[in-house]
Amino acid sequence: LTQLEDMLVDKKSYGLFVIDRSEAAFGIASGKRIHVQEHLVSNIMGKHRQGGQSAQRFERLIEEAAHNFFKRATEHASSYWLPNLEDIQAIIVGGPGATKDFVVKNDYFHHEIAKKIAKTTFDVGYSNDSGVRELVENAGAMMGEIELDAERQVMNVFLGELVKSAPKATYGEKMVRQALDQGAVGRLLISEALRKSSLTLQCGACKHEWDVSLSRNEPIPNCPSCKASGENAEELKNVSLIDELTVMASKSNTEVVYISVDTEEGSQLLYGFGGLAGICRYPMM
Ligand SMILES: [Zn+2]
Repeated sequence: LTQLEDMLVDKKSYGLFVIDRSEAAFGIASGKRIHVQEHLVSNIMGKHRQGGQSAQRFERLIEEAAHNFFKRATEHASSYWLPNLEDIQAIIVGGPGATKDFVVKNDYFHHEIAKKIAKTTFDVGYSNDSGVRELVENAGAMMGEIELDAERQVMNVFLGELVKSAPKATYGEKMVRQALDQGAVGRLLISEALRKSSLTLQCGACKHEWDVSLSRNEPIPNCPSCKASGENAEELKNVSLIDELTVMASKSNTEVVYISVDTEEGSQLLYGFGGLAGICRYPMM
């Protein structure tokens, strides 16, 4: 993996949370890495009450201890995720019993976190480190679906602009570069399957310099000035087009969204729009 590919993977992360009445653990999954941030143990007493306690009072103490434990665990997890919440696709909750659903339904999580909790919860054997890992295995298919939904949504915003009379959108490398230069792009949509290099070439014959973007197996074209063979041109620069555009985007405060080809909308981006599109801050066409 190149550094950028590594970054792409990190953009899709998930909050993970497992809980039952005796313990809880939480962390984050990004790409292939799973990080368990904390494992908490409850102090909910056992099933046997002390002499002198009424059954009712004992029951109340247990519920109070359970409530405090759920509150502590969800608060710790919420404050861990909140600073990076915009990079978190969804929060996935699991556990061995009914506690996981109880905690979700009774609004224990911070309200911003609650918005990102996946609708399905997952059964796992334990609410500890191994439970967090098991959660990722069990939720894998759903994580994929969540990512694809997010990609479809952003593509539909772009496609929706295109049918308007003054679209706040642009596409294709040339137009997207221009719009990025003007700082006009709010969100830059890049197809993950875009495998082009951005080159600056110098003609071996007339020393003319020019820029071109080429796919991996595409031959270097002839000099646009003197028509000398591209074989004799010198590469002054050769970077991946995705890297170059990502750097341009960061200069204009543009959010970069990577789109896979795993959806119909995603293949439309690659084959219909040259793998590049911009959702713009003002009308571009
Ligand atoms: Zn030349």
